[in-house]
Amino acid sequence: MSDSLDAVVVHPNRWRCKECCWRGDGSALKYAPNPFDKDATICGCPSCLNVECVELVCDVKGCWEQVQCGFPEGKGYRQTCGKHMHNTSGQPRLAKTKNEDRP
Ligand SMILES: [Zn+2]
Ligand SMILES: [Zn+2]
Repeated sequence: MSDSLDAVVVHPNRWRCKECCWRGDGSALKYAPNPFDKDATICGCPSCLNVECVELVCDVKGCWEQVQCGFPEGKGYRQTCGKHMHNTSGQPRLAKTKNEDRP
């Protein structure tokens, strides 16, 4: 398999904690098996050790807003806050103007 992976948008996978305002990489999160669901995991903040209090943040550099939406872009997948939705590649999606001209 030699897919051109360089075209894939690499998701930064950054998170923040609602309890202690920790911000960091997803690899720093603490994961544990969910005692209520064998197939699931729960993740916790590495700073305050609370669980289920971290949230994914916008993948735009310098933006730490909570992810509001996700959308495919190129061969990758983006997850951004509402402010940066479809507006991160420098090519904002043009809103189709409805022909509202009436005679
Ligand atoms: Zn925390
Ligand atoms: Zn953003």
